[in-house]
Amino acid sequence: MAQDPGWLQEPMDYRGKSVTVMGLGNFGGGAGAARFLAARGARVRITDLKSEIELAATIEHLHDCNQLEFRLGRHDEADFTNADLIVASPAVPRGNRFLHAAARAGVPLTSEMNLFWLHNRARVTGITGTNGKSTTTALIGEMLTAAGRNPRVGGNIGRSLLPEVDQIGPDEDVVLELSSFQLEDLNRIGVSPQVAVVTGFSPNHLDRHASLEEYRTAKQTILRWQKPDDIAILNADDPDVAGWTTRGRRLLFGRSPSGDLSARLDEESIVCELAGTNAEFSFCTMNQLPGRHNRMNAAAAALAATVLGVDQNAVREGLRRFRGLPHRLQLIHEVEGRRFYDDSKATTPEAAIAAVEAFAHDQPILLLAGGSDKGIDLSQFAAAIARRVKAAALMGETAPALQREIRGSSAGDGPVMHCPTDFRAAFSWIVNQSTAGDVILLSPGCASFGWFSSFEERGEQFASLVNSLTAESLSPSPMLSNDA
Ligand code: ADP
Repeated sequence: MAQDPGWLQEPMDYRGKSVTVMGLGNFGGGAGAARFLAARGARVRITDLKSEIELAATIEHLHDCNQLEFRLGRHDEADFTNADLIVASPAVPRGNRFLHAAARAGVPLTSEMNLFWLHNRARVTGITGTNGKSTTTALIGEMLTAAGRNPRVGGNIGRSLLPEVDQIGPDEDVVLELSSFQLEDLNRIGVSPQVAVVTGFSPNHLDRHASLEEYRTAKQTILRWQKPDDIAILNADDPDVAGWTTRGRRLLFGRSPSGDLSARLDEESIVCELAGTNAEFSFCTMNQLPGRHNRMNAAAAALAATVLGVDQNAVREGLRRFRGLPHRLQLIHEVEGRRFYDDSKATTPEAAIAAVEAFAHDQPILLLAGGSDKGIDLSQFAAAIARRVKAAALMGETAPALQREIRGSSAGDGPVMHCPTDFRAAFSWIVNQSTAGDVILLSPGCASFGWFSSFEERGEQFASLVNSLTAESLSPSPMLSNDA
């Protein structure tokens, strides 16, 4: 069903066509689209505001691809108005003036994910939510792998499946992490996954989405076009998501004692009840995945895998094998009794709250928090810091606001605080506050931009500072200093 006539609605013959890929980026989507189109004989022009040096790694990956032309460091309107098709990165706001120029010239628009959808023949399991998408996606992949299937796992998790779409048979398993921006584009072609998982919903990306309502509407695309045979797996403990509707079958996961749950959790295990069969999955094998939030992700994944026909033993084996993803509450090292955790991927307040609450109540936590400002309310995060954290190094644009809010929540007994001017200074300050037995946690609750180019770079710098620590560099009895 055609949704937006300005958007490509059906596969086309790309041979000899002039296609402009807008936004190469470093996450694989732009390169995947370019590779797919070049293989079909299109003349592909890649344009990006980033320079050749900034995009060097991605360009290197495309070295075997013919028919590519690069226009980097700027965009040229003629590349948009004289093309047969534009493939825009989800990072480019759809109101962009070059996209407008293309639309005025009658040039259709698409995205890497939309192209995948138009060409893919296999059943898709799609995962979205404000937090927990990548972890849940990877867990489902691990369970399918444990069942001896060969799942194709991709999307927003950082891998484009588009170049391999023709090799994916109709009976294979495609598992896609879907961001709100990708879903917004899929809405323009009226499609939703056959199995949809929603981990939770809270305000995010309000710098890009005009309102919370618009962000929710984008996310709800994961259910909007489902058919009666499709399945929606929804977080019952999230009052927002629990109310989302679908034409498909709703399966709920959560802790709430009442309600019609298909997967019920307690502290020890998940019990899945599907089609009259009960299966219990214990958390005791999930040592690498701390926190209640990860138990919720595991419940969503167990339900999805069960729906996909994975047997109980393979679900168990998937849970056992999964080691967590980098930069998600990842234990980097223990030095002189201090455990250092990298949770750089916590770019939302809820993710960072989940991290702080993943540790035992009496566990002293020293936190590196703050970053760039996405216009999100930080009051709940500040309250959690005031409640649970012993010392906080506050970083980037949001540091002053966080410091104010933490002070406001802490009634005089809050954490020691400091707002350093760079990451190295933040790290040495927090290390100086620590004693043996402490957890030192990088869980910023904010995006990394400003001090870093990405959450990966922030986490890597943290790990390299941790790895350069020596026993001697950790003073035995630190003096607590406070500029709060
Ligand atoms: P996403 O792909 O949605 O960003 P990830 O699985 O990459 O989610 O995790 C991102 C951050 O959110 C990590 O810091 C992780 O510890 C935290 N997190 C993961 N799952 C949840 C959840 N269900 N609720 C809240 N925070 C979560």
